[in-house]
Amino acid sequence: MTFVDPKTFPDDDLLHIIETNPNPAHIMRYTPQYQAWLQDCMAEAKERNLFAPYRYTLRSTGGNSRKYGHCEVCGEYASEVFSQAKEERFGINGETFRSTTFGHKKCLLKIRK
Ligand SMILES: [Zn+2]
Repeated sequence: MTFVDPKTFPDDDLLHIIETNPNPAHIMRYTPQYQAWLQDCMAEAKERNLFAPYRYTLRSTGGNSRKYGHCEVCGEYASEVFSQAKEERFGINGETFRSTTFGHKKCLLKIRK
């Protein structure tokens, strides 16, 4: 039996392999080769950051609180309001839920998990 290079899997396949492990029907599961391959798959998933529950993107709105409202985190005025999008990933199908928060750059960075 040969093992496919984990680097060739799409993200979803990689997560599927990891999340369904151990597969009781898989006769190879106790062999050192399989375990080594699984470790490789996990390392590859980690490298692609697939385990991170959230993904953030931060950008300046180019405006202040008079235009965009006070910081949603601390409630104070901001001379430059930033918007931070948070993407949350669900399950192996990779459906994402997106939410946006407006505020100071430092406040938005502070609420990241
Ligand atoms: Zn703030």
